[in-house]
Amino acid sequence: MTDIRDDVAATFTELFGYEPSGLWSAPGRVNLIGEHTDYNEGFVLPLAINRRTVLALGIRDDARIRIGSEFADEVVEIALDELAPDHLAGWSAYPLGVAWALGEHGADLAAVPGVDIYLDSSVPVGAGLSSSAAIESAVAIALNDVWQLGFDRQTLAKVGQLAENRAVGAPTGIMDQSAVLLGERDAAVFLDCRSLNDEIVPLGFAEADLQLLIIDTGVTHAHATGGYADRRKSCEAGAATMGVKALRDLTIDDLDRAREVLDDETFRRVRHVVTEDQRVLDTVRVLREQGPRAIGELLDASHASMRDDFEISVPELDLAVETAQANGAIGARMTGGGFGGSAIALASSSDISRIQVAIDGAFAEHAFQQPTMFVVTASDGASRE
Ligand code: ADP
Ligand code: MG
Repeated sequence: MTDIRDDVAATFTELFGYEPSGLWSAPGRVNLIGEHTDYNEGFVLPLAINRRTVLALGIRDDARIRIGSEFADEVVEIALDELAPDHLAGWSAYPLGVAWALGEHGADLAAVPGVDIYLDSSVPVGAGLSSSAAIESAVAIALNDVWQLGFDRQTLAKVGQLAENRAVGAPTGIMDQSAVLLGERDAAVFLDCRSLNDEIVPLGFAEADLQLLIIDTGVTHAHATGGYADRRKSCEAGAATMGVKALRDLTIDDLDRAREVLDDETFRRVRHVVTEDQRVLDTVRVLREQGPRAIGELLDASHASMRDDFEISVPELDLAVETAQANGAIGARMTGGGFGGSAIALASSSDISRIQVAIDGAFAEHAFQQPTMFVVTASDGASRE
């Protein structure tokens, strides 16, 4: 962390020729449970992690934005009055889309000064840990501060989502930005994606001597296309046939009728979402009543549902989960949108290295690309440094 912060400030000065007026950062997130429930207006339980995107920002005396990233060769420059979602492309669509989306939420972009931004990140890209929400949220809180917009964090989450939906073109829900903006140390964010009501739920992992291991399979996913859009369509069709506004409105008791009126594939998509919503509610209750050691079965059941009903897992994710479970994890599941990305395993600290060795061995045996594994802790959300 400290390294990135120092480097970001130094590179900003090298690149733009003056010292930044401040540093802001935003974490990645991992979803503990509640997958593909957000756009069905249901429940999710993500946490902010101790990997962050850090940016340095300086104020200009004209109305232009320049932005550079450790990840990119070029500095992108645009006038504030040229910001339009259809004109933005590539990596800079995320941060510049946020500047545009602030305008859509009522910021007067004709009255604010231009800015220079340089950023770097320790959130792995495309691993299902939402490097996208990290970059969006870091930019959102920074511009909210220096442009003195006074938006609350819930509004900034919507700003990030709008940027991702319109400027990037990825039809994602509100979960990622909410986790990244609202997260707290050793806690998860319980989010009702209909009311947008959010509640902090203490995890107590450290006290229970548990650690959360991320297993990044390195298999890449394509959120904006393909499977994700298909699943959304199935969910919408299922809700329409069942006569409800969103799958959130169904409960386990409705599944018998769903089986009768829906085709088999749509039924299984619906069953995943309905049971997953219930698992999120159960996880929150179990965390509060029994503590984190009791949530393992819910994590395991979530994975089985995504593998068999929603069909968004891949062999690498299944292998990571099964190997973790067989080597002492109290629970494991794929996390994120699916079709690659990461799995999580919750385990006693003393079992973590055994699990890692076993997963490495299993991946080698299957001739899968070596996964990247690291422990994360639940951390504070986006902030000024
Ligand atoms: P995920 O959010 O799962 O990491 P996405 O495909 O949603 O994956 O978002 C990743 C994209 O976000 C990258 O391809 C890049 O365009 C952009 N991005 C994320 N972090 C940075 C960064 N530090 N610098 C530049 N672009 C970034
Ligand atoms: Mg993303």
